[in-house]
Amino acid sequence: MSKLIISENTGIRCSLCGNLSNTFIQEKGICICDICIMQSYNMIKFSKKKQRIQLYNLPYPRDIKILLDQYVIGQDSAKCYLSVAVYNHYKRLLRLNNKNDDDDVEIEKSNIILVGETGTGKTLLAKTIARLLKVPFTIVDATVLTEAGYVGEDIESILTRLLQVADYNLKVAECGIVFIDEIDKIARKGDNPSITRDVSGEGVQQGLLKLLEGSLVNVPPKGGRKHPDQDMIQVDTKNILFICGGAFDGIEKKIAKRLNMHIVGYAGKNIQNIDKDNLLKYISPQDLKSFGLIPEIIGRLSVLTYLEPLNRMTLRNILTEPKNAIIKQYIKLFEMDGIRLSFDEEVLNFIVDKSIELKLGARGLRSITETIMLNAMYEISSFSKKELYIDKDYAKKQLEKDLM
Ligand code: ADP
Repeated sequence: MSKLIISENTGIRCSLCGNLSNTFIQEKGICICDICIMQSYNMIKFSKKKQRIQLYNLPYPRDIKILLDQYVIGQDSAKCYLSVAVYNHYKRLLRLNNKNDDDDVEIEKSNIILVGETGTGKTLLAKTIARLLKVPFTIVDATVLTEAGYVGEDIESILTRLLQVADYNLKVAECGIVFIDEIDKIARKGDNPSITRDVSGEGVQQGLLKLLEGSLVNVPPKGGRKHPDQDMIQVDTKNILFICGGAFDGIEKKIAKRLNMHIVGYAGKNIQNIDKDNLLKYISPQDLKSFGLIPEIIGRLSVLTYLEPLNRMTLRNILTEPKNAIIKQYIKLFEMDGIRLSFDEEVLNFIVDKSIELKLGARGLRSITETIMLNAMYEISSFSKKELYIDKDYAKKQLEKDLM
């Protein structure tokens, strides 16, 4: 008869993963920890499910963009590219599911790279896409990755996350989408070969290449290197769509240099037409190479698009327009205590101006609003009125108090 053991500091190791744990099922001297029990349960449950993704009712790219518009302000170019890429990704999967033997046209996937300053909405776009997807989706940070054998996470851990999101259903995970953030941080550290290996730069790019181009990868189902004995799951990355994002700080200089050379060489009169405030719109694969991405990686990221820097008007819209805009969130918070919160128009402009002044971008909007509203939220229990109107004087005072 199996026995459930729950106690502190049992000192017992799990017979499967070898880890110390405090919750076990014990049977004839064999102990299985709670984590292994959960994972085994999920593997069995989902392997019995029909291993196909439902691909009906696909939204068209235009509809996907309309959905994105509800959460992300501006960034039309990136939205169009993403909408088309996601739609085509679905169509590829649909074809794979219904392929005729005599049909030999294979639609290849187009991985995407989004370039834009930090805080312009790259992650937000990816997260919003994830809301409407019917395939598993995960966001990973390239900065934690290192070449196998070095301190950090193995590149395969990216797929562990996808497997987990797909509840270990291999077929479903193999159709998923992965967003790799901060891809610029794995740029080659320099052109000179040095004695120290570039284990978090070019080394990671080489490893990533295998995933992007589509191959069979052995993935540790529990991730990390903490369970060296675990059985590997072989994941085919051929149909996994990769979306990469990065700020590529300083890439404008490389774009300007290239444009200037181009203009001097071929079309001197076009130089006036260049939008110098937004050089990112002219980004080309060549610039990514100058920045330090290896050509093989660039070749596997066939869709290259950019995000616009956020101007005053966009920041003002971000504050109030998206479905879960910051101001709407505060109104909701107070509403839950029966208080009708409203803001003077001047306060909203003040928040935007402060965010620009402090060079905080869209992220600053939340922190500034939080500072302005902190005292009111703290004192919420002592409110006698059912209305709270925030004017500019109050907002200024709260912010100055904090800066002091
Ligand atoms: P990035 O990944 O480009 O560094 P994020 O997507 O994490 O930036 O954006 C940071 C925050 O700023 C988001 O949580 C969001 O609230 C806000 N934000 C940035 N850009 C936009 C945008 N275009 N529309 C709406 N909100 C935005």
